Amino acid sequence: MNKAAQALETTPVASADHDEIRRIFAQQRDTMLAWRQSTAEERLARIQRLVDAVEAHTDEIVAAGAADFRKPAEEVHITEILPIYMEAKDAKRHLKKWMKSKSVPPTRMMLGTKAYMQYEPKGRALIISPWNYPLNLSFGPLVSALAAGCPTILKPSEMTPNMSALMAKIVRETFDPSEVALFEGEVDVSQTLLDLPFDHIFFTGSPQVGKIVMAAAAKHLTSVTLELGGKSPTIIDESADVDLAARTIMWGKYTNNGQTCIAPDHIYVHNSIREKFVHAAVETLKKYYGDSVEKHKESPFLARIVNHNHTHRISGLLDDAKTRGARVLYGDDVDHDDRYIAPTLLTDLPADAKIMEEEIFGPLLPIIGYDDIDEVIGKINDAPKPLALYIWSKKDDNIREVMQRTSSGGACINHAVVHFLHGNLPFGGVNNSGIGSGHGEFGFKAFSHERAVVRTRFMMARLFFPPYTKLSNAIIKILPRSI
Ligand code: NAD
Repeated sequence: MNKAAQALETTPVASADHDEIRRIFAQQRDTMLAWRQSTAEERLARIQRLVDAVEAHTDEIVAAGAADFRKPAEEVHITEILPIYMEAKDAKRHLKKWMKSKSVPPTRMMLGTKAYMQYEPKGRALIISPWNYPLNLSFGPLVSALAAGCPTILKPSEMTPNMSALMAKIVRETFDPSEVALFEGEVDVSQTLLDLPFDHIFFTGSPQVGKIVMAAAAKHLTSVTLELGGKSPTIIDESADVDLAARTIMWGKYTNNGQTCIAPDHIYVHNSIREKFVHAAVETLKKYYGDSVEKHKESPFLARIVNHNHTHRISGLLDDAKTRGARVLYGDDVDHDDRYIAPTLLTDLPADAKIMEEEIFGPLLPIIGYDDIDEVIGKINDAPKPLALYIWSKKDDNIREVMQRTSSGGACINHAVVHFLHGNLPFGGVNNSGIGSGHGEFGFKAFSHERAVVRTRFMMARLFFPPYTKLSNAIIKILPRSI
């Protein structure tokens, strides 16, 4: 085992004191009440403190990403740090507008009234995040919570202890715990937090744990945003620009070495261009990570698998697929000690292979040929609704067909994963891949309650107060046809 890999092994996660968790949660109540009246300037000042702290600790953030799973520095900058700046900039530009009450015109029944929606902070927020983009998926939602005026407790993943410890330090240095606190630890820490009556929980993680979070939230009728996972299908039709598809899919898949919730999970490629696509994909991998499978291991641009359990889980999927008759087209280089699995392209996958059922969340990429798009749409609709769907095509009819007959949290046409970076779009899943959404104004709304307010001067409804008269009776009868 090399030195860097040893360093990956030795950092245990700190564990929070459970009484301290309950004490800080109680303390945040006063903050919650005070922050109801907070101005946009005050909220933006808190966000700016966070951004300044991230900037001041940039080198340590890069080092923590490398220590946890040798995340390439460039990827840390693009996928961990940049999204926080983007969220903060968006809030800076638009928070005043987001916070402003929005008037709505009266309906006929409500003539004589004024009505508007007021955005109030939901209250105390809990953010539970996963390990794959630990900083982005903790501090990104934190920007939204601060924009909405919610004191927050964060619980990052225990699987990336270096980044979690650094985030704890940043939060300690930047906020009073009555404003924002972070508790490190394993499942028991999550469970203690989930027992508390938070006003909103923003959870990012697996569908399995998402169900546990939702069940815990139900005990207090706490609202939830669930950002979950799934098997994101990718379609390349007969008209697609094969080189473009190869370049973007290999980038989207192998950033973080496949450990991305919206990475293409498996590919359906039209049989007429299948060989051409496989060739382009292999050439692209050689261009990105070194000109042979053996050299990929030395590439500074391929992250390691987050821990040994996941390395075994993914290599188990590979062995299972091969045992059941799948054919390896490229890759298949596994080093357990180094937590390394090479980008691996597979084909001829039997339907009962585990890799066709579980979210892969690693560098294996099944490539499935097809002749009829109906078949592909049928398979997508037979599976739980995915977090993302990608299609490469030059045919508008094919694109329309796929987009209208399937469902997914988000989608890209002739691109992959970039919808995450589009601040004006909601980011989220649907059913099994998630509930609710985040980013920009959608993140602000996730942590805000949209309060419906009617202010009355004269209102038609007065006609229906008892005692009922002949006039009110006559009006009641014609109402259904006249409103
Ligand atoms: P996970 O669900 O195992 O863990 C997420 C968080 O929940 C961690 O902080 C963990 O400590 C906590 N947790 C784990 N078990 C728990 C339990 N029984 N009770 C309470 N809390 C518990 O997910 P993960 O392995 O960290 O991340 C991978 C998953 O997250 C994948 O499914 C991936 O698709 C998904 N994901 C989704 C998004 C998105 O934006 N939709 C982003 C990244 C990852």
